[in-house]
Amino acid sequence: MPETGVPARTVIAVDGPAGSGKSTLAKQLSEHFGLLYVDTGAMYRALTWAAEKNNIDFEDGELLAELLANSDLTLDSGSKSTVVKWNSKDISSEIRNSAIENHVSSVASHGSVRKEMVNLQRSISRSTGVVMEGRDIGSVVFPLADVKIYLDASVETRAIRRHKQISKRGAESNLDEVKEDIIRRDKLDTERKESPLTISPDAQIIDNSNMTHAEQLAKSAEIALFVIERSLPKLPEKHLPIASHPLKYKMVVTGMNTLLRFVGAKTFGRENLVRPEGFIIAPNHISLWDPPLIGGTFHGLGAICAVAKEELFKPWPMNHLYAFVNTIPIKRAAYDPSAFDRAAEALEEGKCIKFYPEGMRRPLGEPGPVRGGLAILIQRSGAPTVPIFVRGTTEPQPGGSLRSPLEVRIERPVFMDALPHLEATLDRRAINKRISSLFDSIYREMQDRTFSETPLTNWEKEQTSWQRIYAAKKEKLTFRKRK
Ligand code: C5P
Repeated sequence: MPETGVPARTVIAVDGPAGSGKSTLAKQLSEHFGLLYVDTGAMYRALTWAAEKNNIDFEDGELLAELLANSDLTLDSGSKSTVVKWNSKDISSEIRNSAIENHVSSVASHGSVRKEMVNLQRSISRSTGVVMEGRDIGSVVFPLADVKIYLDASVETRAIRRHKQISKRGAESNLDEVKEDIIRRDKLDTERKESPLTISPDAQIIDNSNMTHAEQLAKSAEIALFVIERSLPKLPEKHLPIASHPLKYKMVVTGMNTLLRFVGAKTFGRENLVRPEGFIIAPNHISLWDPPLIGGTFHGLGAICAVAKEELFKPWPMNHLYAFVNTIPIKRAAYDPSAFDRAAEALEEGKCIKFYPEGMRRPLGEPGPVRGGLAILIQRSGAPTVPIFVRGTTEPQPGGSLRSPLEVRIERPVFMDALPHLEATLDRRAINKRISSLFDSIYREMQDRTFSETPLTNWEKEQTSWQRIYAAKKEKLTFRKRK
């Protein structure tokens, strides 16, 4: 990576409210780092334009999604401003008028419309790095974006900017009305049910109310380079603090790894586990075979403790086995503070904690919901979290490259940089929800990546259908005492 550059496939998400200057910043960053600029607001505006032309009700999500699916919407960001085409017709200037602005937030509120848009947005970045601006880029479109910037500015500043923009185009504009409109759109965008505008807990918040264009670019580029650099593996594996591990443990883990290689297990991103600080390892959970599969990928790494349901510690000899591998028991039916205390302490000592965020096994193909425990541990410890996606361990007999590819995908750590800001503005429950929903999106994204390479096999589909029934029953029993 050049000193002031970023890798060619870098994804930078720029989210924020209307008039915060996302377009200017996203264009600046795309030029600075040589990435493609994508304006997703223009895509929702284009659909609003087409709905109006086709007399489609702005409240009819299904028809709107169908219109989008059957049309050709393209963005050409190569020139100075984005050229937006709908079925080859250039509508770039038509989508910027107030008639469109009045309805675009309604059009963008439908789940069916957003699903189509997200697919389109992801396909644009399949072969190239992007700077994508919008409302849900960091939270939904690219939950694993390399850099997430949440750009903000006061309502007054945003209204003055919009007012100037409109006047510059030669159109009539009244500052008070522009301000009212911004407040109205903020409300619609932040309160809607589907992908509302939110500050992702791992975003970098920049308030540019008092910044010049040059200042906002300098600050954002500096942050982007810092965030990218921070995620890179820091230590060569042999320098990790493995002394605290008993030799017996290392032998078991290395043995597991050898066995897994023998049955064709693949690991992607193992370098993401090589970090100097203690971090949370958060895998999805589809089978009782997940722990040995994931355990095998840890061979040669530092001290790792797992948090596991207390039921596992009861029968002999499992009680000894779990103690041997440093496992912390947790009660799942109610909040168990002592388990979180022990896990947070271990993280502070620089150890890693493996924690299953779904709290129980889920069917492959339907990851989540992520329960509150992960967010509690993150808030307690402030530790970064490495998401892992497992496939191929499906019971009753796991593995086999034909029946189900045996894979462990390890992502870069997620640092919750926006937590101090969220703690100052939201209650714990709301923050908890934000973190859980971010990880829900992350597992879906990781699953999409594995399925795009090898779609769900027939055998996996069969297993998934019985796992679904099992999971529904188990969920009620396991978490019944919780609200
Ligand atoms: O950014 P811009 O003002 O052009 O976006 C127009 C509208 O499109 C926003 O007010 C919002 O309702 C919607 N939008 C969205 N999600 C995005 C981008 C825009 O809902 N990713």
